[in-house]
Amino acid sequence: MKADEFRKYGHELVDWIAEYLENAGQYPVLSRAKPGEVRARLPEHPPGGPEPFDAVMRDLNEIVVPGLTHWQSPNFFAFFPSNNSYPSILGDLLSAGLGVNGMLWATSPAATEVETHVMDWLIEMMGLPAAFRSTSPGGGVIQDTASSASLVALIAARERATGGHSNTAGVGGGRLVAYTSTQAHSSIEKDARVAGIGSDNLRAVEVDEAFAMRPERLAELIAGDKAAGRVPFFVCATVGTTSADGVDPVAEIGKICREHGIWLHVDAAMAGTAALCPEFRWVTDGLEYADSYVFNPHKWMMTNFDCSAFFVRDRASLISALSIVPEYLRNTASEAGTVIDYRDWQIPLGRRFRALKLWFVIRAYGVSGLQDIVRRHVALAREFASWVEADPDFEVANRVPLSLVCFRHKGGDAVNQAVLDGANASGRMYLTHTRIDDRLTLRLSIGNQRTQREHVEAAWATVREMAAKAAYSE
Ligand code: PLP
Repeated sequence: MKADEFRKYGHELVDWIAEYLENAGQYPVLSRAKPGEVRARLPEHPPGGPEPFDAVMRDLNEIVVPGLTHWQSPNFFAFFPSNNSYPSILGDLLSAGLGVNGMLWATSPAATEVETHVMDWLIEMMGLPAAFRSTSPGGGVIQDTASSASLVALIAARERATGGHSNTAGVGGGRLVAYTSTQAHSSIEKDARVAGIGSDNLRAVEVDEAFAMRPERLAELIAGDKAAGRVPFFVCATVGTTSADGVDPVAEIGKICREHGIWLHVDAAMAGTAALCPEFRWVTDGLEYADSYVFNPHKWMMTNFDCSAFFVRDRASLISALSIVPEYLRNTASEAGTVIDYRDWQIPLGRRFRALKLWFVIRAYGVSGLQDIVRRHVALAREFASWVEADPDFEVANRVPLSLVCFRHKGGDAVNQAVLDGANASGRMYLTHTRIDDRLTLRLSIGNQRTQREHVEAAWATVREMAAKAAYSE
């Protein structure tokens, strides 16, 4: 492709994206593609020679779009949001266009310094502890996902607990024990496996009726493990659990961690964005005890996947766990110790200039623009919950601290399954489920930037329509 063609098709593609996003609400939200259907429409063999870009665009429209689930639809209420936004898309396009690899400061100083600066901005915007600032012994870094961020936290904690020994000699012995709640995200267990801790050595601490970790149970488990000669080294608290938005008591957990010298990691992947608003800043309560913290701008902060903001209190523990310096990476700036080399803060060596999209988003929306979106979603969730509560056939099943409403029809699992299936098959909305008290429970997660009151009203009407149909067919 020549530069002129790139300009032409680039403009066309930007137009296409704007058109798609403006009309995202008109597609059936959940793709209706059957397994294998997309592949069956793709040519079996790669093209022998160059194809015109028009042909690629045709296949985009005819093959790819029907195989999409429309995460940017205002009627997307499933799982958690995964927003993009125009400034973020432009930032990502620019990152691709610049094509720099910011693995070391020296390989593109702007990639590192813009990232460091934007991470410090987040601290200011969200009232995070000053200990996470780049000017302190801590610091922030963009990871691809919360799963990776929690993994590097676990590895740094492991290294601290073993005096750096496990990196060379292996974790061995199964003596290291980690803790999280029964409601924690599955990534924590995956990370425990990847880091060689093993699922068996990750304790799932019971929760209370609000799905929050019970600190007294944590203390008991730690005491039991210590008495048995094991080494408790890592606790992951969650603020905003995936299933039902439970909020662990981070300060109480933090005090226990301090007492035993245990690394406290806080996973606020979805809920963390709420800290933009002073009235929701309780999501950061207790962070003064945290050794590390992660939240995902790629969920609720209008920054397209992937962009996970990870902060540590003591960057030296992270770097000592992850830094290996082969000869070919040696350079004067790194050796002088005056620069940040983010490759030492993550698993991969290479890294994209992800900070651009976050920088663009923060500048285009401003703090107030981002706050408005969070406030609107929380208000809509509360309103939806009030409609559910007012209906004698339904009940709310969580406390709705932010923008996730867990609710169910009182008629039992079969009715709720019918509502879920019917609503999703209708194409009008996409809803997912969880199990609470061993009962099938519906989750309405409100977080797409285009979601307005009318979309939430329509979702509630669809849910009621499907429930009425289910009752009628019984
Ligand atoms: N932690 C929590 C609480 C989540 O809700 C999620 C959501 O998927 C994750 C972690 C995983 O996020 P990621 O896809 O960034 O790894």
